[in-house]
Amino acid sequence: MESTIKAPRGTRDVLGDESWKWTHVLNVCRDVAGDFGYSEVLLPIFEHTELFSRGIGDTTDVVEKEMYTFIDKGDRSITLRPELTASMVRSYLEHDMKRAPQPVKLWSAGPMFRYERPQKGRYRQFWQIDFEILGAQSPMADLETIDTSMEIYRRLGLTNLQVLINSVGCPNCRHAYRDALKRFLESGPGLDALCETCQGRFERNPLRILDCKKPACREATEDAPAIWDSLCDECRSHFEDVNRGLSRIGADVKLDKRLVRGLDYYTKTAYEILAGELGAQNAVCGGGRYDNLAEAIGGPHVPGVGFASGIERIVITLEGQGVFLGEKPKTEVYVVTASSDFAIEASALAHELRASKLSAGTDYAGRGMKAQMKQAAASGADFVCIIGEDEAASGTVSVKNMSNGEQRSIPRNEAAAKLVLWREERNR
Ligand SMILES: [Zn+2]
Ligand SMILES: [Zn+2]
Repeated sequence: MESTIKAPRGTRDVLGDESWKWTHVLNVCRDVAGDFGYSEVLLPIFEHTELFSRGIGDTTDVVEKEMYTFIDKGDRSITLRPELTASMVRSYLEHDMKRAPQPVKLWSAGPMFRYERPQKGRYRQFWQIDFEILGAQSPMADLETIDTSMEIYRRLGLTNLQVLINSVGCPNCRHAYRDALKRFLESGPGLDALCETCQGRFERNPLRILDCKKPACREATEDAPAIWDSLCDECRSHFEDVNRGLSRIGADVKLDKRLVRGLDYYTKTAYEILAGELGAQNAVCGGGRYDNLAEAIGGPHVPGVGFASGIERIVITLEGQGVFLGEKPKTEVYVVTASSDFAIEASALAHELRASKLSAGTDYAGRGMKAQMKQAAASGADFVCIIGEDEAASGTVSVKNMSNGEQRSIPRNEAAAKLVLWREERNR
């Protein structure tokens, strides 16, 4: 016998016990998007590879090692999207949204793909939500995206939210900082103190050394200068305004000089939002400004700012904080028959109940009544409708309330209306 086919490494099925929580998260996103005025765009799962090599940068880990790239039957190089920002900006340019009143606020959600080593909670196909404000230079747009993500987490019930924030400057001032950082490393700890990857980064992208998680590199950069002292006037006042705005809306903010982000198109604000137990908070969101992305992919200058957040991580954090998300949707009414002679009647009743927006189920396995009652109990149904000889003859249905065992007979043609009423009473 051939072996059974399993889901590819790094992917998984999100089953019913869990997927309803994802739906809940997405519903909250949809509500928040409405309140902030973001419109939803449904973007392609794959794009021309060039969009990501130009928009993310050839030298990043994502583009160098982690993309699912293939040649399609038309000889085009295609890549499964590893993130959404580049696609959002591509869509903005392609549909000439620059001609619409600015800014344009967009959001989207869906699966992303990165060829990474699978770990607990990290998959090669993973879902992200993504919110972007395009066409706004103002630091208040940065503030609004941070507030958007915080509002999503607040409405979901997450607590202990903290904003980590930094500026990565602009091409004008980043050079000065790059030089200052290199001088510090050369004259202080020396290149030998760094891990091999970071030694390679020294010339190419020294800022990323601050981001390295290896203890040796963290120690070597402990006293490294922060970019704040190197910012040009424009970047400095932008950074200060975002911070003033955050403090005005009561956010818990911490400056973090190590927050540099791996993608080259980022300018000015970079942020993460932490949630979880105090002292063991994890980033649930990463975002920032990317004023040079549109030009990098061949468009005009379009300032932009936004964030992405992984649904998996949000759900894990909600569970970690013990947030009550409501109950998993379940069958409310189960229809039981005394014999298979009443199978059609049972299906017809289930049909009517569903038309009245009651969740209803019935047996298709020809089980005996006792086994059907067991099924009903296992489904978690609040009510069981019983159809047998007597009921059919008298045009009634026997309804059993599963929480107190009470059983009563009601006219068949009133069953749906009565059950809707009883459900409301029960939920009160
Ligand atoms: Zn600057
Ligand atoms: Zn390192």
